[in-house]
Amino acid sequence: MLKKFISLVILAALAVTGLAGCNTSKEKQGAAEASEQQPIIVQGPMPIEAEKLAGHLEDVKEEKSGSFVFYKGKLEGYPVIVAKTGKGMENTAAATAVAIEKYDPAAIINQGTSGGHDPELNVFDIVLGERTVNLGSLKTGALDEGEGIEPKEWIPMDLMASEGSAGEDPDAENIRYFEGDEGLLAAAKAVKGKYEKGKVVEGTIGSADVWNNEVDRINWFHEKYGTSVEEMEGAAGAQIAAAYDVPFLGIRVLSNNKVNGGQYNPDTAEANQAYVLEVLKEYITTK
Ligand code: SAH
Repeated sequence: MLKKFISLVILAALAVTGLAGCNTSKEKQGAAEASEQQPIIVQGPMPIEAEKLAGHLEDVKEEKSGSFVFYKGKLEGYPVIVAKTGKGMENTAAATAVAIEKYDPAAIINQGTSGGHDPELNVFDIVLGERTVNLGSLKTGALDEGEGIEPKEWIPMDLMASEGSAGEDPDAENIRYFEGDEGLLAAAKAVKGKYEKGKVVEGTIGSADVWNNEVDRINWFHEKYGTSVEEMEGAAGAQIAAAYDVPFLGIRVLSNNKVNGGQYNPDTAEANQAYVLEVLKEYITTK
C-alpha cells in the first residue's frame, strides 16, 4: 500500500516537472515568434493586379510555390507579402492555404477587378467586402429528361453546413456568407477619403469561376444574394482564411458594369492597388 503511494507521488512529481519543462520551452518559442512581426498578405490574381503593388515594397525577395509567386518585402518597415495567385477559385484557395502555412500571416487582403451587379456603382468605384459569397455553390431543381434547364429555380447550397450530403440536407439550402474582418474594414473605411477616382462603399462580393454577361442572371444574384460585384477569387480566399481563423477582407474595384453599360477598363486595377496601399499603411499603424 505504502509502496504504491510512494510510486504515485514520484509519478506525480515527474509529471509536474515534465509539464513545467514543456511550458518553459513553449514560452521561449512564443517570445521568439512575438519578436518577429507576422506579415500581411495582399493577393492579386493577374499580373496587372499584383506586380505594380509589389513594386511599392522595399527589400523585395521573390519566392515561388507551384505557380504562385510571393513578393516578400516591407512597407514602412512592416513585412508585407504580395501574392500573385492566378485567376479563379482553385488557384486562390490553394495559394491562400500555402501562404498561411508558409508565412503565418496576421491578415489577408484579396484585391483586384470585378464586374458590377449594382446599377449605382460605376467603373472605378471600389467595394469593401463586408461579406463575400460563393456564387457557384448551387443546387438545381429536380427535372426529368426533356424538361429543360431552369436556372432561376436553382437554390443556394452551403457546403459548410454539415459533413453530411449537401444534396440531401435541407440545412444546406442556405447562402453562406463570409464576413469581412472588422479591423481590416475599419482601416479601409478610415482611408476612403484618399481615393479620388470613384466612391468606396461597403458591400457584398460574389465569386465563381464564371463571367456573367446575362443581365437577368446578374439581377437575379443581385436580388437573391445582395451582390454588389462579381469576380472569381474572393470567396475562395475568404473560405480558406476562415478555416485557419486568419482575418480577411476583399477589396474590389469595378473594371466593368454590365447593368449600367460600364465598359471594361484595365486601368482600374492600378487605381485599386493605390487605394489598397493606403489601407495597408493604415492597418499597419494598428499593429
Ligand atoms: N477581361 C480580362 C479578363 C479577366 S479574366 C482581360 O482580358 O484581361 C477574369 C478576372 O477578372 C478574374 O480574376 C476576375 O476576378 C476579374 N473580373 C473582372 N470583372 C469580372 C466579371 N464581370 N466577372 C467575373 N470576373 C471578373
